[in-house]
Amino acid sequence: MREGSLEAPTRHPLDWRNPEFYEQAKVEQELGRVFDICHGCRRCVNLCTAFPTLFDLVDASSTMEVDGVAKQDYWKVVEQCYLCDMCYMTKCPYVPPHPWNVDFPHLMLRAKAIKFRKGIKFRDRLLSSTDALGKLAAIPVVAQTVNALNKNGLARAVLQSALGVHKDRELPPYASNKFRSNFEPSPSFPVKDGKNAPGKVAIFSTCYVNYNEPGMGHDLLALLEHNRVPYVVVEKEACCGMPKFELGDLEAVDRLKQINIPVLARVAKEGYAILTPVPSCTLMFKQELPLLYPDDAETLAVRDAMFDPFEYFVLRRKDGLLKTDFKTPLGKVSYHIPCHSRVQNMGQKTREMLEAIPGTAVSTVERCAGHDGTWGVKAEYFANSMKIGRPVFRQMAEPQPDYVASDCPIAARHIRQGMGDESKAAEKAHPLSLLRKAYGI
Ligand code: SF4
Ligand code: SF4
Repeated sequence: MREGSLEAPTRHPLDWRNPEFYEQAKVEQELGRVFDICHGCRRCVNLCTAFPTLFDLVDASSTMEVDGVAKQDYWKVVEQCYLCDMCYMTKCPYVPPHPWNVDFPHLMLRAKAIKFRKGIKFRDRLLSSTDALGKLAAIPVVAQTVNALNKNGLARAVLQSALGVHKDRELPPYASNKFRSNFEPSPSFPVKDGKNAPGKVAIFSTCYVNYNEPGMGHDLLALLEHNRVPYVVVEKEACCGMPKFELGDLEAVDRLKQINIPVLARVAKEGYAILTPVPSCTLMFKQELPLLYPDDAETLAVRDAMFDPFEYFVLRRKDGLLKTDFKTPLGKVSYHIPCHSRVQNMGQKTREMLEAIPGTAVSTVERCAGHDGTWGVKAEYFANSMKIGRPVFRQMAEPQPDYVASDCPIAARHIRQGMGDESKAAEKAHPLSLLRKAYGI
């Protein structure tokens, strides 16, 4: 069998409606097969805690091979995976079309789907209900109370023992003014389509921007307005489904898909570029939903119209349709590329854009920060999450930056927390906010 594959990697659709997908014996057999390949390879040992967990189990077994590991211990590996996709994207030479057909993250997903059907903790169900939580917590008085409690040591200790949310994890505040009910409508501009990207934009705002950091959404609209790109905010929106996907709750993903895809497909067919300001949500529409619904024309139309905001700006620049009248230099920016941006296979578009701003030095860190959406919040994973992030915290602090930025606002908060005192002099700012600042708008 040859080492690695010379052909471009492909990803097989997820056969999640097939009853076999949920058969524990079949999954354990496949876990054993893939774990055996991984044990012989071990390239991924430093990516996350899933692989060290596996290799420790093998090394401690009586045979020192995968056949010596008890099948119930396979699930310890599954628990450590937060589906960042990095093993598939950056390390594995055995991904399809290689005949060994290793897709480690999607095998973990299949195992998680089985685990989900057996029943999960109330905490996991709650944390992954970002839309419902946001609707409740963003009610003005409730938002202030939740934010105050999140900073109260006693309340956090209670939250940890009652719900398993780690008491030291810095949580994002809830905004009392939601993005979707407070955005400025677009001025009327003529639509200028470019060769590489459409000239009008539809915004899928995401739960995080809607309920936690609406400023990111307002910054994105200001950037579009400055560049005379007309926009709409999509008329109806539910969670993209990524938090449910990461739990293996594929039925919930399906319910959310039924709400989002018809609305998004309509704007895609009308020729809008759809921009999603949170990388995990963008990835859900670009990759995971198309793999769950490979024959659904609407899902594929949404995939083809979906852009990361910086991917869109760089393409507009290529089309000669992006203004470069920057007024404010940004100084030193420590910029982190989140895994779910890397998986989009679009190159380092945010870095490219920030580097085009005069008087701006960008130091780029391309490594998993270890938070994931809800994984690093949970009491049992918090320590591992901080451990995985340690090299990122160190590299981000090194240039003594003026700004700490990541496309993923959750990763940025985690990085700031991990940098501790070293981040005190640096301002945490989303790249969209930095671009707006540079334009002076
Ligand atoms: S998907 Fe990410 S967390 Fe899961 S095993 Fe691969 S590298 Fe580790
Ligand atoms: S996922 Fe691929 S690269 Fe990583 S340890 Fe397994 S076989 Fe090796």
